[in-house]
Amino acid sequence: MIKVMKFGGTSVGSVDAMERTAAIIGKGEGRKIVVVSAMSGVTNSLISFIRDRPPVDDVLAHLRGKYSSSAKVIMTPSLFAEYGEALDTSLEGLGRALHDRWKVGMDPVLDDTISSWGERLSSLTMAYVLRSKGLDGVSLTSEAAGIVAQGSPGNGSADLVATHHNLRRNLLPLLENDSTPVLTGYYGCGPDGRPLTFGRGGSDYSSSVIAYGIDADCCEIWTDVNGFMTADPRAVPSAKSIREMDYNEAAELAYFGAKVLHPRTIEPVRRKGIPLMVKNTFNPDGEGTLVRGQKINGGEILRSVAVKCDLSIIKVYSSEIVYQPGLISRLVGAISDAAVNTYAVSTSLSTLAMVIPTPAVDEVLRKIDSLGDLHVEKLTVKGNVSLICCVGDNMLNMPGVSAKVFSAVADIGANIEMISEGASDVALNFVVPSDKALDVVRSIHDTFIGG
Ligand code: ADP
Ligand code: ASP
Ligand code: MG
Repeated sequence: MIKVMKFGGTSVGSVDAMERTAAIIGKGEGRKIVVVSAMSGVTNSLISFIRDRPPVDDVLAHLRGKYSSSAKVIMTPSLFAEYGEALDTSLEGLGRALHDRWKVGMDPVLDDTISSWGERLSSLTMAYVLRSKGLDGVSLTSEAAGIVAQGSPGNGSADLVATHHNLRRNLLPLLENDSTPVLTGYYGCGPDGRPLTFGRGGSDYSSSVIAYGIDADCCEIWTDVNGFMTADPRAVPSAKSIREMDYNEAAELAYFGAKVLHPRTIEPVRRKGIPLMVKNTFNPDGEGTLVRGQKINGGEILRSVAVKCDLSIIKVYSSEIVYQPGLISRLVGAISDAAVNTYAVSTSLSTLAMVIPTPAVDEVLRKIDSLGDLHVEKLTVKGNVSLICCVGDNMLNMPGVSAKVFSAVADIGANIEMISEGASDVALNFVVPSDKALDVVRSIHDTFIGG
């Protein structure tokens, strides 16, 4: 039995968390591959260093302090001395990347290299923490493990076939040797050998890619809440844990804003039918959530509600646009050329509306402009909207459910800007003004799940 266990930022974010994480890894049978995120806050700091350019020595001292202050409490002095040397060697690499970045100016690939450093430091630190507990922890970067990535910086995806080949070659001997590999999450190795990150929160996706690559029996995501819940517990304190979900439900919710899983986490495990568990590092005996290929009908209409913020609606007006399929495909093509996700599309006789992330609006408008004469009469952009995603087995096939959802929206006086029902078998999605979005989520949750 091979298990991939991914620990997020809070699960490696303090002495207590590292101790808990090590205890979870040490418990139970089977061979384990550990995947770690940066300590909480570290990736944000690295990204702000790129912007603010503080002196490199200050950056390195800050990170050395953050990691080694926890390590020092956990490790014996002799192990800590060995760890300290390895930490310094790793930080020297970051120092070189920062100096290069200051020299060359803008370089998105170097930015990915720098923002991957928190995971490198976590992998090293947790491997030594495991050693201090008597396990043979072996730190492996994504480069050393052979996680192959493609795509653009900040938005990479894994080459599953190449990664499968490399991981079997690089990890199986370690497992046979009873070692516990501790891999970096968040990034893979691009075609030029340089790091390519999978986007924010990407360590969940890394763990699923690794589970696929090593043909794991199970992929466990250890985080700071009791599994996948009926809503984000930060927004809805009465949210409840969900015992089981199927891949489709979890994938839809993750794509539409449930931060507990990176949007692309489900696909690699789904392809091999590997069950995925979401568990709480701070409550390891709690049940957590099992996500797998089996359809569950627990009888509830709404299983969970998510919200995707920071979106805009681009609306293109042209007479009888629906009778100009060439125009629609060119407009949609312009968005995909800009490598932008479209979260919803809707047409009427003379309008095409598309929901895209607000930071991508300028680029999309430039692409549309570059298409030349399109007979477009008007183009409008409405910012500050959010997409609400309601998922459940009976969401779409039970009469009156949509009416009940929309009445919960009306109760808090929010205007529905766009609806996309039926595109997925399990989800009802619609767009509301961002300032009302969290109230809408709470109202829907109260209506279907209760307080
Ligand atoms: P990690 O650092 O472990 O990857 P994240 O902060 O990325 O943790 O994800 C966990 C957080 O996701 C939770 O603390 C919670 O606030 C948020 N979240 C959003 N939607 C949900 C949901 N449906 N169920 C559980 N947590 C959710
Ligand atoms: N450390 C990365 C981030 O903060 C990746 C992750 O935590 O999954 O986005
Ligand atoms: Mg996360």
